[in-house]
Amino acid sequence: MADVLWINGRFTTTDEPVIRVEDRGFQFGDAVYEVFKFLGRGPIFLSEHYRRMERGLAEIEIANPWSGLDDFAAMAAALLERTSFDDGIVYVQVSRGVAERSHFYAEDLVPTAIAYSRRFRFPDAASKEVGIRVITTPDLRWKRCDVKSVNLVANALAKKKAQRAGAVEAVLIDDGMVREGASSNFFVVRRGVVITHLLDPHILPGVVRDRTISLALEAKIGVDERPLREAELFDVDEAFITSTTNGVMPVTAIDGRPVGSGQRGPVTAELQRLFDLCEVRSQKAEGRSERRA
Ligand code: PMP
Repeated sequence: MADVLWINGRFTTTDEPVIRVEDRGFQFGDAVYEVFKFLGRGPIFLSEHYRRMERGLAEIEIANPWSGLDDFAAMAAALLERTSFDDGIVYVQVSRGVAERSHFYAEDLVPTAIAYSRRFRFPDAASKEVGIRVITTPDLRWKRCDVKSVNLVANALAKKKAQRAGAVEAVLIDDGMVREGASSNFFVVRRGVVITHLLDPHILPGVVRDRTISLALEAKIGVDERPLREAELFDVDEAFITSTTNGVMPVTAIDGRPVGSGQRGPVTAELQRLFDLCEVRSQKAEGRSERRA
């Protein structure tokens, strides 16, 4: 079924072929994207997603098609108003624009900006308790993983490898260090302390990662932001991933070896509970500010 699509200021549906063959997003992966979640048609952590996109666009010198957060929020509200279901995700992408194919790009290109809403089945309580299995695989991505670029071929290959191994996520290893998942941030818990990679160009600054760390600190759970050595992976009590679509999701096995007891651990369960509450509060808060506007 076609979804509602916003492109460069007008609405259509995903049935309309709107992308030109010489769009630089198509030919060069010269684009950034975002995915945010909505519940009851209320966007979750919208400002955090917008700020990350704003920064990513600036980092790769693509003009921001929105004048600011309010402009972006108005687009999101108009999109969700036209959407026929209550819960799902919005995919947003901004490419450098259309030009005759050349590595050299003009500095005055008009970006191609799109956003569309899509139904999404978020994990239910049972699957959030069961958790997921992951594999480890070399990190073959570019060196600016802090920019949410659409160049996802290395991520897609890693996830396919995970799927073939009966897992759902691939944890990327680079230089002997655990970086993050192919589409998530990765955390472990060791002796009650939560460990996750620090913010640097090796990882995406995940919106859920950031919120989970704040919630852990508020709950007086210790947090150590540092890269974990690959060898340390098998000496942890708990592990979990975070992402917009999964929230906080327990990892019960890595490369076929059980993590801790092989079941969701107590710190993970508590962070899951706190995060889910926080998400609902964010939805209500975003709804309120929308009504004020
Ligand atoms: N890392 C990567 C590589 C991702 O693709 C994602 C999902 N967008 C994340 C981390 C998690 O980010 P977020 O919590 O903002 O969804």
